[in-house]
Amino acid sequence: KLKISNLEKAFAGKTVLKDINIDLEHFRSLAIIGPSGGGKSTLLRMIAGLQRPDRGEIHINGERIDYSETLLHEYRKTIGVVFQSYNLFPHLTALDNITLPLTVVHKFSKEKAKIIALDLLDRFQLKVHMDKKPHQLSGGQQQRIAVARALSIESRFLLFDEPTSALDPELTSEVLDMIKELQEQDKDLILVTHEMGFARQSCDYVLFIADGQIIEHGPSAKIFKEPQTLELKNFLNKIL
Ligand code: ATP
Ligand code: MG
Repeated sequence: KLKISNLEKAFAGKTVLKDINIDLEHFRSLAIIGPSGGGKSTLLRMIAGLQRPDRGEIHINGERIDYSETLLHEYRKTIGVVFQSYNLFPHLTALDNITLPLTVVHKFSKEKAKIIALDLLDRFQLKVHMDKKPHQLSGGQQQRIAVARALSIESRFLLFDEPTSALDPELTSEVLDMIKELQEQDKDLILVTHEMGFARQSCDYVLFIADGQIIEHGPSAKIFKEPQTLELKNFLNKIL
């Protein structure tokens, strides 16, 4: 459930999100699509509590995100976020990349953190890489470790910002397959993506954002089959 009311954001006087309003009752996986610079990442960062709106509110699963410093800190701990690259600590092994936040941020014991991490690595066939540092892993493997880490806390939902955009096509499918598996396990997710095939097949709802506004939104089957606005038609023609 996602409700956004009168959301506005400007950077240095330039409006980046213009009065965003939406109320989505039922979605499992939400794809945010749209041209570069349209405001997708800015919106996602606000949902993640990493950036404050200038005006307006976001309710997620019925709860208003409180942007006061202390509560924001707590809120961020409850969400798994994966960005397009540079997600991992470069000096730590894959295993330690997962256990460190668990011990430092979430105050798990070292033993408990290791059990959680090994379980996740095992589940996604990543155990063979546990002692490797990021530079010894392919981009796809690094992103899968990052997704596993995002899952390590019992997060309410997961946010992805173009998790595959830095990857070669073969590696992209590795990561997308993993995300698909999460969906099958009933994790709610919001994903900024330029992988239209994935948005169409694997996401149930789509937001099309351009120029700081929601131009069109709807069930993904409908959005891709019958785009209503010229903007979305042009965008899909260009990208598909
Ligand atoms: P892309 O597809 O290229 O990732 P996007 O839709 O994610 O684009 P945003 O990153 O949200 O776009 O950026 C929207 C606009 O806000 C852009 O014009 C960008 O230059 C500007 N912007 C984003 N973050 C900042 C910032 N911290 N300071 C100044 N301007 C910013
Ligand atoms: Mg972006």
